[in-house]
Amino acid sequence: MEKLFGKTLAELKKITSDLKLPGFTAKQIADWLYKKEVSSIDDMTNLSKNVRARLNEKYEFGLTAPTRIQESIDGTKKYLFPTLQDKFVETAMIPEGDRVTVCVSSQVGCKMGCLFCFTAKQGFQGQLTADEIVNQIRSIDEAGEVSNIVYMGMGEPFDNLDEVLKSIEILTSDWGFAMSPRRITVSTIGIIPGMLTFLEQSEAHLAVSLHTPFNDERQKLMPVQVAYPIEQVIAEIKNWDFGRQRRVSFEYILFEGLNDTPIHVKELARLLDGMKCRINLIRFHPVPGTPLKSPGEKTIQTFKEQLNKKGILTTIRASRGEDIYAACGLLSTKELVKS
Ligand code: SF4
Repeated sequence: MEKLFGKTLAELKKITSDLKLPGFTAKQIADWLYKKEVSSIDDMTNLSKNVRARLNEKYEFGLTAPTRIQESIDGTKKYLFPTLQDKFVETAMIPEGDRVTVCVSSQVGCKMGCLFCFTAKQGFQGQLTADEIVNQIRSIDEAGEVSNIVYMGMGEPFDNLDEVLKSIEILTSDWGFAMSPRRITVSTIGIIPGMLTFLEQSEAHLAVSLHTPFNDERQKLMPVQVAYPIEQVIAEIKNWDFGRQRRVSFEYILFEGLNDTPIHVKELARLLDGMKCRINLIRFHPVPGTPLKSPGEKTIQTFKEQLNKKGILTTIRASRGEDIYAACGLLSTKELVKS
């Protein structure tokens, strides 16, 4: 059975036209899929019984429930979702005051091989479809309360660009979830062609994983540096007109003795000179099999203060969900195989 959930309005129009249904039926179906809390075609009660029966012959509503939910002592939750390819992905839900942020995955595992990342150890096991990405927001307990979405879970979003863009279209279109793109942030390690297409085709915020301003160090941490050096990534961003509302930020995980020195502060200030941006400092959560360590709290605070003094707005991201392996860089479903 083909899923209706995850179809764009244009795709729904094609379906209704193939079934010779009235033109407005596509919009009615989109409303049921993306604006109401129902989960079966039979619940689409403004469609005639006959129309529902015809849809049921070929299609299913298409939501997928999580198979496991873990809750942290700080309220963060980690959801495990089965995928079409008999694998699993993880999604984190982070409550903070009146905000509910969902951190979605875009791939099962990842090809990018970043040294500090637990997902990298899993290797690449497949792409997620747009409906599997949006399902991570629609099928959690907090679906009705989501205020922000970050594409920072498993995978590199711009290595699955078409499905990621389609998922953003569903989330932000009037016929879809009608969310403001300003509540969505997509994070990349700096895949330039994908990043430029994203900047052109979407209005969502951009976050770039920077982690060190130095070429040789970054190459050791992130193999992508060979193909897309950070200088070039930043040059492209500097060339882009971000307008007043759209934000670019940089993620910076601190590693003891590696990227946490005054020399790094100085070089970051040079690299980001003239940009309106923010740096989010992230505490490193030790990943088995890497020699990397987090610096102490004092070093982290000093690093932040030095950057702020240089005029770069810098914040430290609160660590959430560490006890359930939901924190940054800790998502992995390697051991899980669908039985
Ligand atoms: S940090 Fe992101 S891009 Fe790098 S391996 Fe992990 S998931 Fe992939």
